[in-house]
Amino acid sequence: MRRPLRKSVATALQSNPWVNLHQRLIHEARFQTAPPSALSGEDFSKWKKGGESYRVFLGKRNPIFDQELIGMNAALSAASTPEPPGSIPGAALAALEAAMPLYRAVQWEEDDRANRFWIAVAEPMLVSAGEELADAHAKAYATPFPKRILVDVSPFAWEFGAYTVGEGESAHAVMSSTEPGYKGFAALEMLMHEPSHAIVAPASGAIGSDLARAAAKLGVKPYANLWHAILFYTSGELTRRALARRGVRDYRPAIAGMYERGFRGFKQALETHWQAYLDGKVSREVAIRQVLIETAPPKNVALSVTAIVVALALLRPRNPIIPGWIPRTAAWIAFAMLTLRGVAGMVVDGSSDLVWWPIFLTGGVLFGGVAWIARTSAFGSAVRRRQG
Ligand SMILES: [Zn+2]
Repeated sequence: MRRPLRKSVATALQSNPWVNLHQRLIHEARFQTAPPSALSGEDFSKWKKGGESYRVFLGKRNPIFDQELIGMNAALSAASTPEPPGSIPGAALAALEAAMPLYRAVQWEEDDRANRFWIAVAEPMLVSAGEELADAHAKAYATPFPKRILVDVSPFAWEFGAYTVGEGESAHAVMSSTEPGYKGFAALEMLMHEPSHAIVAPASGAIGSDLARAAAKLGVKPYANLWHAILFYTSGELTRRALARRGVRDYRPAIAGMYERGFRGFKQALETHWQAYLDGKVSREVAIRQVLIETAPPKNVALSVTAIVVALALLRPRNPIIPGWIPRTAAWIAFAMLTLRGVAGMVVDGSSDLVWWPIFLTGGVLFGGVAWIARTSAFGSAVRRRQG
C-alpha cells in the first residue's frame, strides 16, 4: 500500500482503515462528532458503547504529545491485517475490534473513497514539485528536510485537520481528506507544512532556536505562536513559488486567511522581513530579529506606566500622599538599571541594534535627570528638611 515517490525524500500517502477508525473514535470522544449516520438500533448502541470506552481510554490526553497514543497510531498505520495489532492497549483494542465490522459495513467505503480521491489529486503534485520544495525548505531552515514521510489520510485528523509526530529524519502525519483547507493546491502546501513540524519547534530546532536566541538578546518574549506563523509563511510562500513556476499564478497560501484570527499583528512584519529573507535579501538572523522586534508583545506597558507615574511624582511640586524618597529612589534605580543595560547593549550589539540599547540608554539618562532635578527642587529640599 505504501510506496515512496522519490529517491531522496520518500513521502508515502495511504488510506488505512485502522487509522481511520481510530481517528474517528478519538474525534467522537473529544469533539462530540456524531457516529456514522447509517447506524441504527442495536448497531448504534454497540457503536456508542465502544465510543464510551474510547472516551475513558483517551481521557484528557492529546495524540500529538502522548507517547502511548503516538505508538498506537504508528502501530495501526503499519497494520494491514483484518485483526488490529496486538500491541494496542486493552481498552482501545476491544473497542476497535467491536467497531470495525460496523465501520466496514456503513462508513469505510465512503471514507476510503474520499481518501483515495484526495491522494489521487495530491500525489502528482508531489511527484512534480515535492523534491524541489523539500530542498527549498531545507535551505530556508538550514536544516535537512525529513527523508521518510508517512501521511495517513482520513476525514478526521484530530483538532485542526492535520497533525504530525516524529523528529528529524522521519515524520508521521495524519491529514484530513475532507477539510476544505487541505484540498486542491492547498494539499501541496500542507504536505510540506506538516513534515516541517519534525524539524521546526517552538523554542528549539529550526526557527525555534533562532527565535530563542534573538529573544534572549533583545530581552523580549515572542508570542507563543510566532514560530508557527513563520512555519506557515515559509511553506505557503515556497509552495506559491513552486506553483507559479508551473503556471498557477493565483495561489493564496493558507496564512493569508489567518492574520485576522490567530496571527493578528504578524502580517506586516512577516511580509517585510521574512519575505526579504526568503528572497535572499537579508540574513535569517536579521529577519528573525526584525520580526521579533515588530511583533513582541507589549509586556513593558505596565513598566512604562510605572515609569511615568514615578517621573510625574518627582516633577510635581508637592505630593502629600507619596513620600518623596520613594519615587526618588525608584528613579535612581531605574537610572542605574537602564543605563547599565544601554551601555552593555552598546558594547555587545553596537550598530547591529539601533533600537533597543539607544532606548534603554536614553531612558536611563532621562531618569537620572529627573532624579537629579528632584534632589535639588524645592519639594526635595522640603522633604529633606522635614526628615532631618
Ligand atoms: Zn502546523
